[in-house]
Amino acid sequence: MNAALLYALIAAGANLAGGLVITTANPGGRITQRLLIGFGAGFMLAVALLAMLPHAMEQDASAAVTVLLGYLLVHLTQHVLTPHFHFGEETHHDAMIGRWVGLAALGGLLLHTFFDGVAIASGFGVSQSLGGLVFMAIFLHKIPEGVTVASIMLASGNGRRGALGSVLLLGVFTLLGVMLTAQVASLRHHGLALSAGVTLYVAASNLIPEVQREGSWPVATSVFLGVLSFWGTRALLL
Ligand SMILES: [Zn+2]
Ligand SMILES: [Zn+2]
Repeated sequence: MNAALLYALIAAGANLAGGLVITTANPGGRITQRLLIGFGAGFMLAVALLAMLPHAMEQDASAAVTVLLGYLLVHLTQHVLTPHFHFGEETHHDAMIGRWVGLAALGGLLLHTFFDGVAIASGFGVSQSLGGLVFMAIFLHKIPEGVTVASIMLASGNGRRGALGSVLLLGVFTLLGVMLTAQVASLRHHGLALSAGVTLYVAASNLIPEVQREGSWPVATSVFLGVLSFWGTRALLL
């Protein structure tokens, strides 16, 4: 098994862990989730802007357009085609989200997790250290991602089995992303730029709004800690 697939498998495991956290309900874990969201947002932002973007531009001068395309693709699937979606634990009551809303949210997030896999494979395609950085960025938001989907499925009346099935599916799509990047030439060529746009969206438009909603000082500061640890992690990997 190659490195990208192995790391994607670990990331998929974190999706499942996030789902288990929610389905076995533990309100004490809520602040930990919030801190993880803030920290993950900062780390992802740094990886997208300081590691993925420069490499994508190096490979192809027109990569900036592809980055924008990746960003807009997530906006389309998570907010234009999906009636109700936000990252983090679902706290709205059932009246607001019906079963199909839960399924639509799952659909949007499946595209995103596919690109989590594309990002890992593309990172390792450039170098071990870029692959390692991208993996960390993906791994850090995988637990909140599992929480998001599992809690949306529960809140929309899709049941515990639906919730756990969904987080498993998130993991499967991450692995698919890795495998298809190895097979499909155009994905290999544009994968890094596309997934840089996706990563930017997840960090700045999915995770940061959750941090803003929280309004607590430790959670707000965790974003900076996430950014700072980017340099620490990079120094360790180089
Ligand atoms: Zn909601
Ligand atoms: Zn993800």
